[in-house]
Amino acid sequence: MSDFMFQRMALIGIGLLGSSIALAARQRGLVDHIAITTRSEATLHRAEELGLGDSYHINSVDAVKDADLIIVCTPVGACEAVAKAIAPHLQPGAIVTDVGSVKASVVRQMQPHLPGNVHFVPSHPIAGTEHSGPDAGFAELFINRWCILTPPEGTDEVAVETLHAFWTALGSNVEMMDPHHHDNVLAITSHLPHLIAYNIVGTASDLELVTNSEVIKYSAGGFRDFTRLAASDPTMWRDVFLHNKEAALEMLGRFSEDLTALQRAIRWEDGDKLFELFSRTRSIRRSIIDAGQEVDVSDFGRHLRDGETHAKTLNRDDHEYTGS
Ligand code: NAP
Repeated sequence: MSDFMFQRMALIGIGLLGSSIALAARQRGLVDHIAITTRSEATLHRAEELGLGDSYHINSVDAVKDADLIIVCTPVGACEAVAKAIAPHLQPGAIVTDVGSVKASVVRQMQPHLPGNVHFVPSHPIAGTEHSGPDAGFAELFINRWCILTPPEGTDEVAVETLHAFWTALGSNVEMMDPHHHDNVLAITSHLPHLIAYNIVGTASDLELVTNSEVIKYSAGGFRDFTRLAASDPTMWRDVFLHNKEAALEMLGRFSEDLTALQRAIRWEDGDKLFELFSRTRSIRRSIIDAGQEVDVSDFGRHLRDGETHAKTLNRDDHEYTGS
């Protein structure tokens, strides 16, 4: 009897998320064989150089053959094409999941193509950085990060529990959610902040009154915090907004109204209004720290392990999270 949770894990797409799953699953001894497939020869070759898997396939069909866990780690917009391609070749009883930052669209894209004898349990690990590609992965990415599962109604409970156990073993805290609710929550906590960052960095680079070199020189004033989010992968984020359009527009509408109110407060020198808002928002950061999703020092929101100092965790890796 094997000790592995899965015999063969197929990773479709081997960027930041795919490579982090490969490294974490290997480190924790969760899977026997890791089969890797991706769109381009160059990325596949790099994954092989990095030793991320046990077998490498340019055709996704070869990777999913005999796999009992399939994880789609491509941008959200590619999910339907992937589901169509792999569906006829899936082993009965296999668990199919993904890591997409949007959930209702992924369910719409994939579910109709998947055969009834496999278990489809979409996932979204709320863990990321602004880096992409197979070199960006690290085994600790999921530690103390939430992973949201959005199983469609009627999904086999054992399959959900098995995937829950897998993400837990990778270090995540797992929660269940309806896909539409997930998309609303993420629209305000992740998608809108990224859009604001892309926008402010774009605005700054288009200014005539202030030069680009001044923006860079004095970026410690706040601007640089936005630049990290705005350095995130353009393909991934294009797909997030195209596939979470309604929720993103809803949150953007609310945001624009509130911004207009702030604009008015500045114009009419309504200091009380500004002070009241700035005091209220300050306490949100405290709540995030209290929830263990950030710390006052820069160990990137992870709790210290036994015997570790912050200096040691800083040496463990040098990644900063965006949690997208
Ligand atoms: P990534 O580093 O850019 O890697 C993407 C992978 O998908 C690459 O292997 C790429 O292949 C492949 N790919 C790209 N376009 C494709 C297409 N049209 N068809 C098939 N394969 C394609 O991306 P990532 O950051 O790992 O993100 C992957 C997924 O995780 C996304 O859905 C994203 O929403 C989600 N996610 C990301 C984060 C984050 O912070 N980055 C956090 C949580 C969830 P080639 O290189 O071979 O072209």
